[in-house]
Amino acid sequence: MIRRALISVSDKTGLLPLARRLAEKGVEILSTGGTQRALADAGVPVIGVEAYTGSPEVMDGRVKTLHPRVHGGILMRGAIDDEDLARLGGAPIDLVVCNLYPFEATVRKPGVTHPEIIENIDIGGPSMVRSAAKNHARVAVVVDPADYDAVLAEIDRQGEVSSATRRRLATKAFAHTAAYDGMVSGYLSSLPEDGEPNAAQREAYPRFLTLALERAYPLRYGENPHQSGAFYRERGAAAGSLALAESLGAGGKELSFNNLVDVDAAFEAVREFTQPAAVVVKHTNPCGVATGDSLAAAYRTAREADAVSAFGGIVALNREVDRAAAEVLVETFLECVVAPAYAPEALEVLRTKKNLRLLATGALLPADHRELTFKRVGGGLVVQERDASAAGEVRGGRVVTKRAPTEEEIEALDLGWRVCKHVKSNAIVLAIPGRTVGIGAGQMSRVESVRIACSKAGERARGSVLASDAFFPFPDNVVLAAEHGITAVAQPGGSVKDAEVIAAADAAGIAMVFTGARHFRH
Ligand code: 5GP
Repeated sequence: MIRRALISVSDKTGLLPLARRLAEKGVEILSTGGTQRALADAGVPVIGVEAYTGSPEVMDGRVKTLHPRVHGGILMRGAIDDEDLARLGGAPIDLVVCNLYPFEATVRKPGVTHPEIIENIDIGGPSMVRSAAKNHARVAVVVDPADYDAVLAEIDRQGEVSSATRRRLATKAFAHTAAYDGMVSGYLSSLPEDGEPNAAQREAYPRFLTLALERAYPLRYGENPHQSGAFYRERGAAAGSLALAESLGAGGKELSFNNLVDVDAAFEAVREFTQPAAVVVKHTNPCGVATGDSLAAAYRTAREADAVSAFGGIVALNREVDRAAAEVLVETFLECVVAPAYAPEALEVLRTKKNLRLLATGALLPADHRELTFKRVGGGLVVQERDASAAGEVRGGRVVTKRAPTEEEIEALDLGWRVCKHVKSNAIVLAIPGRTVGIGAGQMSRVESVRIACSKAGERARGSVLASDAFFPFPDNVVLAAEHGITAVAQPGGSVKDAEVIAAADAAGIAMVFTGARHFRH
């Protein structure tokens, strides 16, 4: 039975309907300053927490609910604590509705001062939330307005919140306070040792706050079947992120660690293109990338760029999947497809494949979307800004050879260059307009990647162009490319042997563009 609720919320979304319904059911409502005022103004019967504790809010609200009558009322277990609670002058509290001072939003506020940020560290709120979550055997704790309706529905049905829901709410509550403290600690750790942050630090720290994670779902297994795994979602992940993707497949197998990593690689790459595009990934590297007049055409070309590797691949598409594309997708065995959305007719076709996992992200983030990327190294994380460039680097590049690339070569180089960024170094991508023809990935020497890309392309290497994620240390790469009939090259430039590399290109009639940017991917 819910007899008494304590409501103390900074975000007042949904507050009035919730409180009204509780009051109608005869629930006594205790509340803090601002919340109490909002309820009283709306005519909802409410008792101020000051009246309940007999102790006024002090220090501009720093101390409001930090009182034994509040925490005793929340933490009391049942009959065995009745006497103690009576001695304190408290009464049992069965429901705690609380969301915290908007620390993150305050940090992000332009021109905010350090003291303002410190004042927005909520102390009493997390304490109440943690007390209630600890005592979820008896108490329901609600930290998210999105849960109000479900909680009310249970109270309507059975007069109380079920134990399963209380457990779920407590889990969410502890994740909430942990993430909150993570943000506070993240903010403090971004400050200089002494004094206030400078402009650059101020600009940088909000992005570090996004490190707050919550466990989203378990994975089938880790990188290998003997490793367990789970997916953790970043708090505040942007709409269109893989983290928010909905699973639409016919059922079958759960996602594995490798599936998600590959889906991410494919989806990141396909965002490089504005026209209909498809990327097929195997083991985090694209094996075929193509654009086309339709998604179906783009995907067929991408698959055929390396049909052997594409078997069992992960496919990313950059617009809503239509029926025509779905029909091509089901022609061969694939592990996963990721796209912003699927037309209902396309889903019908795709769901005939029982084990094909389908992910819909709802939207497509732009290729230059800025966020941080992380990789774990022993005992820590290396953190960096996402590599958000590539577009325009070929067209804006510097022609260094006697012959300038033709428009057709530029078009192919532009595609190869965008793909290159998504291939593990040393990366070499051979392309013609609208598609890749051979990709050399992850080799320890660049010339080996050239060799692999040419061998993958076979006869198709002739007349294609080559993009290299970093400069050529020696002219041997160009000589090899020329032997395979490659006509143009895009690379960052900047090697001590640039002059020799350019001379080799000129000797072979190859057109070369220096992009001035490197796109290592490790
Ligand atoms: P109100 O708008 O009702 O005055 O304040 C609601 C906010 O106060 C909630 O975000 C809640 O977490 C926070 N809060 C509740 N008790 C305390 C307390 O004792 N100290 C501090 N600093 N914040 C509290």
